[in-house]
Amino acid sequence: MEPYYQSTRQNGKSLTAKEAVLQGISPDGGLFVWPKLGCEKLDLETVCQSDYRGIARMVFGRLMSGYSPAEIDDCVSHAYGNTFASEEITPLRSVGDIEVLELFHGPTSAFKDVALTILPWFLSKALVDSDKKALILTATSGDTGKATMSGFEDVDHTGICVFYPDGKVSAIQHRQMASQTGSNVEVFAVKGNFDDAQSMVKKLFLDEDLKKTLAKEGIVLSSANSINIGRLIPQIVYYFDAYRQMVAKGKIQLGDPVAFSVPTGNFGDVLAGYYASLLGLPVKKFYVASNANNVLSDFLEKGVYDRRRPFIQTISPSMDILISSNLERLLYYASGKDTEKVAGWMKDLAEKGVYTLDEKTFKTISELFEGGWYDDEALSRTIAEVYKETGYVLDPHSAAAYALAKKSDVPVVALSTASPYKFTQDVLAALGAEEKDPWKAMTKLSELCDQPVPENLAKLENAPILFDLSIEADEMKDNVIRAAGEIFA
Ligand SMILES: *Cc1c(COP(=O)(O)O)cnc(C)c1O
Repeated sequence: MEPYYQSTRQNGKSLTAKEAVLQGISPDGGLFVWPKLGCEKLDLETVCQSDYRGIARMVFGRLMSGYSPAEIDDCVSHAYGNTFASEEITPLRSVGDIEVLELFHGPTSAFKDVALTILPWFLSKALVDSDKKALILTATSGDTGKATMSGFEDVDHTGICVFYPDGKVSAIQHRQMASQTGSNVEVFAVKGNFDDAQSMVKKLFLDEDLKKTLAKEGIVLSSANSINIGRLIPQIVYYFDAYRQMVAKGKIQLGDPVAFSVPTGNFGDVLAGYYASLLGLPVKKFYVASNANNVLSDFLEKGVYDRRRPFIQTISPSMDILISSNLERLLYYASGKDTEKVAGWMKDLAEKGVYTLDEKTFKTISELFEGGWYDDEALSRTIAEVYKETGYVLDPHSAAAYALAKKSDVPVVALSTASPYKFTQDVLAALGAEEKDPWKAMTKLSELCDQPVPENLAKLENAPILFDLSIEADEMKDNVIRAAGEIFA
């Protein structure tokens, strides 16, 4: 059964995974899904006898249609050969009576590394077939920009331009981006705030003149955002691998049900877990952990998605989201693949800011998913308590998952999405050990916890600045054209 992809919003044209990776999003605004996902399961016993890379090859072999086994092998060894600081890639740690799945041992200490180390290779292989080159444009408020650049660094047929708001990212985020290496990377500070850079990037994607200019050189514009199947599918792997580690540690027997607790923003991470369950992973419950932006918790309780509420800035910024884009894919499967219904809900969301599920879909979802949310104070309290009881330091995002995991009555894995060193100052404040200087703060945290400063962060303080260009938003287009010329010369 060759997987094909189609939109969540209509039963139309079928694409291979390669085509879906290149396109990113369906022209009707829907997300790409494989209707038959779940008809065939992975063999759990084989999974448990494998390792991370082996499981990755199994998952991709099943879902990435159009890619040959040799291409998949090549993508896997580039992404997970030696780019992660842990041999296990995503190691499981016992912290109290909860298993913590550490997803932050990638090149930028962020969980997004797991997918962003491989998406560029998937894209690169798809580009060879189409004889094109892709220029990735990304506006970042500070975090994903670095992980994206790092993933794309020196990957054939790709180039990347990152734009961040000048003076509005943290000292560490600035140094991370300004010191990025790679012959296909350019970084720009843009005057104004994040929204100015973001709106201009969106405009550039629609700019016919820019597209024509680039097309003459065989260059297409592309984004690497989290709705691309090339970012979603790699995340399925660590759910299976976590299960393998649970069995290996003797925490469960092969076949036993488990639960996962997931810090959630755009719903990509937890959705990948749902995909794993469709592929045969025995999951009793997914706990969906949010911060004070509790739109998902309300949704899972009431079946009403209502984004009409204030946006709250928290100490877990990657979960500060009011529209969880990837939820659309869950709605597709839970409604029995009813594309008309999904399109209707998404229209309501866009026009009214709210939609209401039918009873049957809501029941299907609430049997498997349960929400919970924590404000900054509760997150800080969890960080302090867990440290006191176990000596382990959680970052604020992972703290939400850890706190919610306590609800489970079966063995539970809490996903840890960031190293505490990425949020050093808030973590130190939670532990009652404030330190304003970002570099001193890292040393201070390393004295408190048994995890060393990740190498990529430790060496930053002395990393040479390679990019110091600051531009106006209306100069972005010209700079993109110039950068494209240099990168693909
Ligand atoms: C992106 C991110 C999340 C949220 O993941 P989604 O897939 O958007 O739900 C959680 N924690 C951290 C640290 C992140 O960077």
